[in-house]
Amino acid sequence: MSVTAGEYLKQIAPKLTDEFSERDAQVLLAHVIGHPRAWLLAHLETPLNPPQVDSANQAFSRLEAGEPLPYILGHWEFYGLDFDITPDVLIPRPETELLVERAIRWLKDSPERRTVADVGTGSGVIAVAVAMRVPDVRVLATDISRAALRVAQHNAQKFNVHHRMDFLQCDLLPTHVDPLPTDSHFDLICANLPYVPTKTLHGLPVFGREPTLALDGGEDGLDLYRRLLALSINWLAPRGALLLEIEAAQGMKALSLAYDLFAESTIQLHKDLAGRDRLLEIHLHE
Ligand code: GLN
Repeated sequence: MSVTAGEYLKQIAPKLTDEFSERDAQVLLAHVIGHPRAWLLAHLETPLNPPQVDSANQAFSRLEAGEPLPYILGHWEFYGLDFDITPDVLIPRPETELLVERAIRWLKDSPERRTVADVGTGSGVIAVAVAMRVPDVRVLATDISRAALRVAQHNAQKFNVHHRMDFLQCDLLPTHVDPLPTDSHFDLICANLPYVPTKTLHGLPVFGREPTLALDGGEDGLDLYRRLLALSINWLAPRGALLLEIEAAQGMKALSLAYDLFAESTIQLHKDLAGRDRLLEIHLHE
């Protein structure tokens, strides 16, 4: 006896939890039958065939076992764009759109500044969104993970910006012995590096579900930013800028770190929509 989409969702209902919402169930079933969620909700009387029921059962057991929905779907929306993702990369977060908005605004206001580096690019959301919205920029995307870099490259191709992007596997930024595939200086360096303090991370629900490599920022969460700031001195163009996503509790510490290294600059902290410190912005004077 065949079951309709609506009946299937009713059967799932008792399993719903805070982490696995009704909306997630609808998104996942829509994905299995190859339609958008809005279509599914307008066609709940659609019968599911046995292979669809099998795939839905498999997908729902993965979700119940704690696998994040975006990894099961294989894609996730960021900045209005549908990025492909794999468990090799962090799931894009809406807070990161703040960084992308600032980057785009600054590049649009300064038409002569056109070289950007996105350090620790992961799925490439920052680099690709910037390249999409600012048509004449050139972006270097780096990551220490080759698997992540492949996802970023794939997304650059998906949105057809790959011809204005370079990809480099390295630890943060290239050292001077590495060949650099782009100009020797960047007008803008962006990064959403791993910034969760190790101990905090071990107590979070994301631990073990998203790559530790993309989350673990060392003892106080600022290990990678400390290194990036020191490296950036060599790579920033005169009057260049840095936009760095940080953890809410790190605002003051990140600020003083930035002042130590970039005394001659304008440094600001910006809050996300939830009112928490989220973005460190540094503008060099000369
Ligand atoms: N914002 C992410 C989280 O809350 C962390 C991202 C990062 O470490 N860059 O899990």
